[in-house]
Amino acid sequence: MSLLTKGIGLAKRAKHRFQDQIRERTPVYLSPVRRIEQVAARERICAMTFDDGPSENTEKILDILKEKDVKATFFVIGNADESAKELYQRIVAEGHTLGMHSYSHKYSVIYQSLEAFQNDFHQLRTYLTEITGVEPQIMRFPGGSSNQVSNTDMKEFIRFLKEKGITYYDWNVASGDATSQAYTPDELVENVVHDVTAYETSVVLMHDSSPKATTVEALEPMIDKLQQMGAEILPIDETTEPVQHITAENVE
Ligand SMILES: [Zn+2]
Repeated sequence: MSLLTKGIGLAKRAKHRFQDQIRERTPVYLSPVRRIEQVAARERICAMTFDDGPSENTEKILDILKEKDVKATFFVIGNADESAKELYQRIVAEGHTLGMHSYSHKYSVIYQSLEAFQNDFHQLRTYLTEITGVEPQIMRFPGGSSNQVSNTDMKEFIRFLKEKGITYYDWNVASGDATSQAYTPDELVENVVHDVTAYETSVVLMHDSSPKATTVEALEPMIDKLQQMGAEILPIDETTEPVQHITAENVE
């Protein structure tokens, strides 16, 4: 492979990564009527969500959450390592919500067809249930329900999840930890705190993955600030209002 071809290959990969990040960041669902009025502090509920774990950071995230006595939601992927199994168990044991985020997290595989999506779904759900003894009831689509990458109409997957009684959650607040811009921990906190003021129920997108050390650093000050502004930090459960880019109710 010539240096030039190699360079093009790297650039393409970087572009794909960038597009993935843009997809997760772009709040298409907010326009054109984004709510900007301030919601009374006491009414604010905030769900902190972590995608893509377990990772090298999961333990650190769990330690901080424990220290602050805060429960969160983890949308996990499949990982057969022994250390990962312990982390799934710890997530459940410490009162956090274990959600699904696909076993493989490979857009090109899971979004190929309904059958491929179903296979991946069952693989992860069975696996997590065996390990933790708890059957997950919620999911976050890789890239969100509004992702622009699926080869299949997302409504097909949404119909399937509805049949299964699974609620999927997108997000209305993005910390920005998956964007190409390298935010500092302070900036991540600022991104979240600023946007949380706009909603009664915020679902905050963050990532539990090895390269995202700033997410871990931002966590404690983020919790402090959210609590100072009166937000109640809660794990997602059946009472949490679904935040969805494509509204499941509208999918027949
Ligand atoms: Zn993801």
